[in-house]
Amino acid sequence: MNNPSNEKNIDKLKQAGLKVTHSRCKILEIFQSFPDEHYTADRLKDLLDDQGENIGLATIYRVLTQLEMADLIQKNNFNDNQSAYEIKKSHHDHLICTRCGEIIEFVNDDLEKLQEHISKKYNFTLESHVMTLFGDCNKNNCKGKLKKDS
Ligand SMILES: [Zn+2]
Ligand SMILES: [Zn+2]
Repeated sequence: MNNPSNEKNIDKLKQAGLKVTHSRCKILEIFQSFPDEHYTADRLKDLLDDQGENIGLATIYRVLTQLEMADLIQKNNFNDNQSAYEIKKSHHDHLICTRCGEIIEFVNDDLEKLQEHISKKYNFTLESHVMTLFGDCNKNNCKGKLKKDS
């Protein structure tokens, strides 16, 4: 495929010092196409299968680690199961529906400042933080709720 976004991804891989392989391109392309999504390795495998791409889970895990180390994607540990990866964006935090798994991204200036304030109070140099709020998305079409009702 020779679309513009694909070319951009090739540039990104090269800049990161990674060889431009088919699996790296394909996986990066999914992240780039859906910047709001958070993918587990299993979900990527399903998507790649749907596209007729035969890329094994071991390769997917390896590519994810490489892309993460190259700072092209971000790894999130939302639960004890699988890590969820997303394309690298500016800093944000997450709300997660424990029923349907929907992930909402948010940034709150007050919260960011408060964390700086708390760190300063403890003479602590803040480098990063992870804020994940779990709960109920309260949407009528929440898949977890639909399951419970039927
Ligand atoms: Zn996110
Ligand atoms: Zn939900």
